[in-house]
Amino acid sequence: QSHGRVFNFSAGPACLPAAVLEQAQADLLNWQGSGMSVMEMSHRGKEFIAITDKAEADLRSLLSIPDNYKVLFLQGGASTQFAAIPLNLAEEGDKADYVVTGAWSKKAIGEGKRFLLANAAATGDNKSIPDPSTWNLTEGAKYVHYCANETIGGVEFKAPPSVGDAPLVVDMSSNFCARPVDVSKYGVIYAGAQKNIGPAGVTIVIVREDLLGRARASTPAMLDWSVAAKDGSMYNTPPCWSIYMCGLVFAHVLANGGLEAVEANNEKKAKLVYDAVEASNGFYASPVAREARSLTNVPFTIPSSPDLEKAFIAEAAQAGMVQLKGHRSVGGMRASIYNFMPLEGVQTLADFMREFAARHA
Ligand code: PLP
Repeated sequence: QSHGRVFNFSAGPACLPAAVLEQAQADLLNWQGSGMSVMEMSHRGKEFIAITDKAEADLRSLLSIPDNYKVLFLQGGASTQFAAIPLNLAEEGDKADYVVTGAWSKKAIGEGKRFLLANAAATGDNKSIPDPSTWNLTEGAKYVHYCANETIGGVEFKAPPSVGDAPLVVDMSSNFCARPVDVSKYGVIYAGAQKNIGPAGVTIVIVREDLLGRARASTPAMLDWSVAAKDGSMYNTPPCWSIYMCGLVFAHVLANGGLEAVEANNEKKAKLVYDAVEASNGFYASPVAREARSLTNVPFTIPSSPDLEKAFIAEAAQAGMVQLKGHRSVGGMRASIYNFMPLEGVQTLADFMREFAARHA
């Protein structure tokens, strides 16, 4: 690739489009004649307000976000939202349901338990999604939380589950903007930026307006969505640079066919890796049930030999494909193929997988 860049399969922070990085570089010293970089601007000045407004408008357009939803640009990562969700939607002693399909939803319920009665409505095996007909949903739950894509296990919901009347709250950190979604199906969508839309530092929360104003009295102002909504995400100094970078990414995606094009590309990329696994006659294995396989995080193993897995990761790195080591809890390899991993990078990986298997089978 240009500038000696590698194919970066990191689970996050992840690669960004070269065109966006070049734009950021060009703007770095002097943003559009303002005489300063975005990092140096007052967040209350007209330049930065214009940057935020455009970022929000472009995200609204990408996801067709209905008018009765607020878009918040917050800090603290998705992990902070694990606490903000119960604090904004329920009182102590209220109940909420969590569908646990892997490490991230487990963390979410763990944090939820500190603030309310968090019920594990279903617990998966980290390889599949528990059959919705077996979910033990609670009457009167203040919300139902699930993780749309388990980044570590590679388990992904292909559509929002039906959960009755309780608002659906979804952690989309690792598949946000990976495909079009029907926002109206959700009460709250949240995602850290650092996989699909920008650098770490900003967390997007999209919340239906009728869910605002329910925060318990003890909720810190910094975690209260109503405060952020009222102040245009500027209760305090926002992560200006990260918001600006996300804005560049949103504009880039809009100019390149929107989320339909992103989805088509992501499907093509995922197919390349899963096909290489399937075509290997058992040399590689995918731990995940076929219907739950993630488009964006693809774990795979070499069941015959942990030593070969080490060799695979080392040789791939030498060939310019980095960060392929699987999470320690799963082992093997994991290819995170987020929105801006180029098709060429995934093709290079799939070719390497075939060649490596042929050499060692
Ligand atoms: N949820 C999911 C699905 C993730 O993949 C991650 C991070 O990898 C998180 C939550 C935590 O996000 P953050 O690091 O922004 O707190």
